[in-house]
Amino acid sequence: MNASIPIRFDPPSTPVIAAPPVQEEILSDAERGALLAEIRQRMQAQDAVLIAHYYTSADLQDLAEATGGCVSDSLEMARFGHRHKARTLLVAGVRFMGETAKILNPEKRVLMPTLEAECSLDLSCPTDAFSAFCDQHPDREVVVYANTSAEVKARADWMVTSGLAVRLVKALHEQGKRLIWAPDRHLGGYVQSVTGADMLIWKGSCVVHDAFQAEALAQMKLAYPQAAVLVHPESPAPVIALADVVGSTTQLLNAVRDLPNPQFIIATDNGMFHKMHQVAPGKQLLEAPTAALGTSCGSCAHCPWMAMNGLRNLAAVLRQGNNEIVLDTQLMDRARLSIQRMLSFAASI
Ligand code: SF4
Repeated sequence: MNASIPIRFDPPSTPVIAAPPVQEEILSDAERGALLAEIRQRMQAQDAVLIAHYYTSADLQDLAEATGGCVSDSLEMARFGHRHKARTLLVAGVRFMGETAKILNPEKRVLMPTLEAECSLDLSCPTDAFSAFCDQHPDREVVVYANTSAEVKARADWMVTSGLAVRLVKALHEQGKRLIWAPDRHLGGYVQSVTGADMLIWKGSCVVHDAFQAEALAQMKLAYPQAAVLVHPESPAPVIALADVVGSTTQLLNAVRDLPNPQFIIATDNGMFHKMHQVAPGKQLLEAPTAALGTSCGSCAHCPWMAMNGLRNLAAVLRQGNNEIVLDTQLMDRARLSIQRMLSFAASI
């Protein structure tokens, strides 16, 4: 009798990622003023432009815009760096954002205020384990979220952002493709529920969005009946189910600007509130609850790795020229393919 060999189809369990405590940079007015003056002078001398993510501090966002840089999501950060003529890109965000900027701009110097700024999604998808999982399913196309390492992007067929995920997966599903999705399980589950695609979903999660609580959010909705609930799809499905708008950071920003509601309950990193207040002054922005009823706050809706970026380490990196993103050329060439396929898809719709 032939013994059957069990074939494992589930994604392997991924390690639980322990986030460091959130430590915001606290500056006196005098120190802030001195750092801003120094950074501006050094940026000019080094032909540098600052590109900051929406989740970074108000100081960094304001400086980026005041010096001709940009504040945006990870994809637009990379695109902006590509379009801008500066020879040095200062990327304030987490490491995969610096890597993506380098992959799309290999001829430029890419510096980051810190190389310690990780992302729980990236960390939860180690290259070797993910690659072995993909090897078990050679019949499936591999779609990975932007929040992954250069190595994982190089293993993928497609990279995708949250703003494009539903449209890309829908198009692949309509072509009869079966997919592997990584690393965010909540975003993957949401995309699967909307598109009906056949997806094997990796089990990573974002420490910030994973903490939003549906039961407490439902009670908050009752207390603010005029509020629209805006949810990033890295949040758990019961939280997404309570949303009036589900979307990427840019899509949530546009919702705050465009919807007539006087109040918004927002389930994404509260670093977004700075830009949201700018585009919709006068509207009340409320944080969605991140702790179950009767318990204390876990992440408090702010990414501990994004908070590692500040004016002090930005000034230091300009002084010392350290924290440069350096990647193998062949690795960048392979990773760029999955990114460029998405950019071509985005241009076609
Ligand atoms: S907020 Fe979440 S997804 Fe974004 S960088 Fe932090 S851990 Fe990663």
